[in-house]
Amino acid sequence: MQIYDSIIIGSGIAGMTGSLYLKRENKNILLIEKEMPGGQMVKTPAIENYPGFVKIEGSTLALSIYEQIKNLKVETLFEEVIDIKEEKQNYEVKTNKNVYKTKTILLATGREPRKLGLPKENELLGKGISYCATCDGAFFKGKEVAIVGGASTAVTEALFLSEICKKVYVLYRKDNLRSEDILKEKLYKKENVEILYETSIKEIKEEKGKLKSIITDKNREIKIEGLFIFIGYEPKSTFLKNIVSLNNDGYILVNKKMETSKKGIYACGDSIQKEVYQLTTATSEGTIAAISIKNYLLETE
Ligand SMILES: Cc1cc2nc3c(=O)[nH]c(=O)nc-3n(C[C@H](O)[C@H](O)[C@H](O)COP(=O)(O)OP(=O)(O)OC[C@H]3O[C@@H](n4cnc5c(N)ncnc54)[C@H](O)[C@@H]3O)c2cc1C
Repeated sequence: MQIYDSIIIGSGIAGMTGSLYLKRENKNILLIEKEMPGGQMVKTPAIENYPGFVKIEGSTLALSIYEQIKNLKVETLFEEVIDIKEEKQNYEVKTNKNVYKTKTILLATGREPRKLGLPKENELLGKGISYCATCDGAFFKGKEVAIVGGASTAVTEALFLSEICKKVYVLYRKDNLRSEDILKEKLYKKENVEILYETSIKEIKEEKGKLKSIITDKNREIKIEGLFIFIGYEPKSTFLKNIVSLNNDGYILVNKKMETSKKGIYACGDSIQKEVYQLTTATSEGTIAAISIKNYLLETE
C-alpha cells in the first residue's frame, strides 16, 4: 500500500487551499471529501467580502478553486473519513470504503450552523434566512429582521444588524441574554431593537419563495424580510475525539503552526478553535498548515 505524504480531510476552502500549497511543493497528497467540493461556501448565495470579487456566488468560487486543484492533478476521493489510527511512524485513515496510509494529516472538516429544524428553514436559506450576519447583513439594509439566539454571537450580530436594519427583533427562549454585560447594555440602548424573552418560533411563513413572516410560540406574527439564526455551530469532529485534543464544544485545538496535540496531524479552517470564522481566515490557516506540514516532512525524512 502506498504511503501518502499527507491526507487532507475536507474539501472546503481550507482543505482545498492546503492541498494547493502541498501539491505545489510536489507532495504526494490525497484529498478526501464526503459530500462535494466547497463545503459551506456552496450554501452561500452571494459573497461580497472575499478579496478580488465585488460579488460572487459561493458555488462559483468553490468550483473555481476546485478547478485550480484539479489542474494541479490533486488526487481526490469522495468518501467519508470515519476513523484515524496511528500505525508506527504513520497514520491509517479509514473511510466508509477503504483504508489509506499517510505520514501526515490535515484536518479541514469545518462546521455547520445548528438549525431550528422547522419546515421551510432549508428552502428559504439565501431567500431571507441566514446563519451569518457578517456575510449577509448588508442585503437587509433598511429592512426589518429577526434574530434567534441570546448568547454572545447573537447579541454581537444583533448590534451589527441594528446599525444597518430598520428594526431588529431578538427572540430568545430564556429570560435573560447570555452574553457579556457590556454587549447587553449596548443592545438595551438600541431604539430599533425589540427583545422577546422566553419566545421561540413556531412557524416560518413564505410568499413567492421568499421569507414573509414568523409566528412565535405566543402566536404573534412578525413580518420580516430577514431571519438570522444564531443558536450555535457544530464542528464535524466527532470521529476525532480520541485522536486529537478538542475543546468542550468539539473544536480542534491548534497552535500558531496549526499543529494539533498529535505529532504529524494539523488542522485548519472552521474546525479549529479561533476567533474569526470566515473564508479569508480559513484560506490563511490552510496555507500555514500546508507550510508547517512541508517543514515537518523535511525534518522527519
Ligand atoms: C450561510 C453562510 C454564509 C456564509 N457567508 C460567508 C461570507 O459571505 N464570507 C465569508 O468570509 N464567510 C462566510 N461564511 C463562513 C465560511 O463559509 C466558512 O468560514 C468557510 O467556508 C469555512 O471553510 P472550511 O473549509 O474550514 O470548512 P467547510 O466549508 O465547513 O468545509 C469542510 C468540508 O469537510 C467535509 N467533511 C467534514 N467531515 C468530513 C469527513 N469525516 N470526511 C470527509 N469530508 C468531511 C465537509 O463535507 C465539507 O465539505 C458563511 C457561512 C455560512 C454557513
